Amino acid sequence: MFSDAWPLAVLAVLLAWPVPVFLARAAWPRRHARAAIALWQAVGIAGGLSLIGAPLAVGVAPLDKHLRTGLVELWRDAFHLRVPASLGLAQEVALALAAVLTVRLVGVTLLSAFRIERDLRRQRDAVDLAAEHADRQLRVLEHAAPAAYCLPGTRPRIVITEGTIAALAPDELEAVLAHERAHAKWRHELVVQPFVAWESALPLPPARRATASVTALVEMLADDHAARSAGRPALARALVAIGGTAGPVPNQRADDGSGAARSTPGTPTLDRVQRLVKPPGGAALAERVMGPAAWLAAILLVAGPTWYVLR
Ligand SMILES: [Zn+2]
Repeated sequence: MFSDAWPLAVLAVLLAWPVPVFLARAAWPRRHARAAIALWQAVGIAGGLSLIGAPLAVGVAPLDKHLRTGLVELWRDAFHLRVPASLGLAQEVALALAAVLTVRLVGVTLLSAFRIERDLRRQRDAVDLAAEHADRQLRVLEHAAPAAYCLPGTRPRIVITEGTIAALAPDELEAVLAHERAHAKWRHELVVQPFVAWESALPLPPARRATASVTALVEMLADDHAARSAGRPALARALVAIGGTAGPVPNQRADDGSGAARSTPGTPTLDRVQRLVKPPGGAALAERVMGPAAWLAAILLVAGPTWYVLR
C-alpha cells in the first residue's frame, strides 16, 4: 500500500542523519573540495525531496500506489473542491505534514535569502561610506586590527583594514586579496546560503555539520584559487599573520562566503594552513577515484529519487 513511501522515508532518514555525519567526518573532501560540495548539495536536494515525498506518498496511497499518479488524482479532486472519500485520518495527517514541511523549507529558504541579502546590502552601503575606495571593489577601513573579508553580491566589495596592510608582506597581501576575490567571483555565498537556510529550517546537529563542512570547503576552494596566483607559502603566512589564533572576528564572520552574521564557528584556520603547507596527497588510486565517485554519487542522489517519483 505504501510502496512509494517507504523507500522515500528510508532515504529521508539516511540523508537527514547518518549520511551528513559520515560526510562531515570524511578526510577525502579536503582533496576534492568541488566534488564534495556537489555531493553536499545533492544530499540537501534529495533530503528535502524525500522528506516531503514520503508523507505525500503515504497521503495519496489509497488513491494510487504510485506517488505521481496519486498526486494527479488528489489534484483532480482538489480542483473540484472535493476530499477523496478513500482518505482516512492518517492520510490527511500525512498530507498536512507534507504541506507544513514544504511551507517551512521553502519559506525559511526564501526568508533566509531575503535577510542575508538585506544585511549584505546594508554592510556594502556602510563600508562604501566608511572606507577608502582603493578600486571598484576594494575598500580599505581605517582600523588597526587585521581583517579581510568579502561582502558578496552582484556588486561585491572586498574589505581589508589598514592593520591587514601593515601586517602583511606584498605577496601575502596579494594572496589574501586573491582569496577574497575568488569568493566574490565564484559567488560562494550562493553555495553556503542554502545550507544556512537548511540549518534554520531543521536546526539539528547534521544540518550544523553540513553548514560547517560546506563553509570549510568553500574556504578551501578560495585558498586553492589564491595559491595558484600567489603561491601556497604566501597564503599560509598570511593566514598565520591575520587569521591565526587570535581569530579576528570580522574575518571569520564574513569570510565564510555567505557574508552573513550567524553563530556557526569560522573555518579552522589551522586546518587551512596545514592543507597549504602540506598539500593533500592523492597518489593512491583510492584517493584519486574519490572525486569522480563523489560526482557520480551526487548525480545518482538527485536523479534516483526524481526518477522514482516520476516513473
Ligand atoms: Zn574566505
